[in-house]
Amino acid sequence: MEALQAVEKEENRLSNKYSNYRKNLTKNLDDLIEHVRSVKEGLCQDCNEEDVLTPLQLHVVSVCSKKIKDCTNKVALEHKELHTYVSKIGKAIDRNFTTDFSGMTQENLFTGESSELLNKAISEHFLRQGQVDVAEKLIREAGLTFDHEHKEPFMELNYILNECKEKNLEPALKWAISHHSELLAKGSSLEFKLHKLKFIDYLSNKRYKEALEYSKIFQTFPSHSVEIQRLMCCFAFIKHGLEKSPYADLMDPVNWLEITEHLAKDACMLLGLSKNSPLEVSVTAGCIAIPTLLQLRQVMQQRQVEGMWNSKEELPVEIDLGREFQYHSIFACPILRQSCGRSNPPMRLVCGHVISKDALQRLSHGNKLKCPYCPMEMDPREAKRIFF
Ligand SMILES: [Zn+2]
Repeated sequence: MEALQAVEKEENRLSNKYSNYRKNLTKNLDDLIEHVRSVKEGLCQDCNEEDVLTPLQLHVVSVCSKKIKDCTNKVALEHKELHTYVSKIGKAIDRNFTTDFSGMTQENLFTGESSELLNKAISEHFLRQGQVDVAEKLIREAGLTFDHEHKEPFMELNYILNECKEKNLEPALKWAISHHSELLAKGSSLEFKLHKLKFIDYLSNKRYKEALEYSKIFQTFPSHSVEIQRLMCCFAFIKHGLEKSPYADLMDPVNWLEITEHLAKDACMLLGLSKNSPLEVSVTAGCIAIPTLLQLRQVMQQRQVEGMWNSKEELPVEIDLGREFQYHSIFACPILRQSCGRSNPPMRLVCGHVISKDALQRLSHGNKLKCPYCPMEMDPREAKRIFF
């Protein structure tokens, strides 16, 4: 973002300069043309039969030609100045957008087994996007074993979502009704929301009788009574138009967008899939992280400590990807104030307090450990590893 702003600043400077230049240029040229025309007229009027210019006329012509030259020089000079601003934009782009990603990639990262995993992730991504033919071609060419059972849920979901985008709720409703108890068990209100949208769709298409008939389905959703009251009150405003009523928000097209998102989320949840494509998440996370990583590489090169972090699982800097990229809880040891990982897992003490394994080892004296939070003493071997 900052890089874009920096380039935009230079670009604005250029466009301001250019509009000034254009304005001056037009004015200068207009004045010049006007001047030449008046000189020409003057010359024509005073023209004598011998077709020879008098010394006065010669003087006027030479003054005029000097004026033309001066003006051309001025225009050329200003034009040259513009180039400085153009090159400044180029420099700003070079400065702010790094194109050298060497050292950011590992050539042998995707060979053997990991190459198969990568191809699988790409195929899965295409299946999620509904690009079944592309996915199938990749599966065939990469020699992957992808059974039909694995593909089917993606294809069904894609079909339902596409129909939803076309404002056809039937496949979605059919799916939600067939998964009624599972959705209910997960606390999902998807089925009710689909019925609600269908009801609103009837209302907005002025099919009031069908809407009234359809509203009977709401009695199976007693937990949504407040929303049902609002929906039924819509009938009181149909004469004057729902758009101008207190229920106008129900007609908002954004509801359709929300329902597709809700549907995708719940369907993925029931299918045991993540809501977003893992490939998309990885690429986006990489794009967010890369500027920091590039800076880090530069610092490490300057200080000649490049090999230092090769063996570590973690990065020497923290990269904040934002909440939407957090998929599981992270335990930070309250004693050592560092995140726990595979090599240093969180340990639950007998008293119930949790500290990291490193902290546990440091606090232990032989077979004795005193909890740093409560006075309980215990054998450190009794502490149990915790999995989040
Ligand atoms: Zn304790």
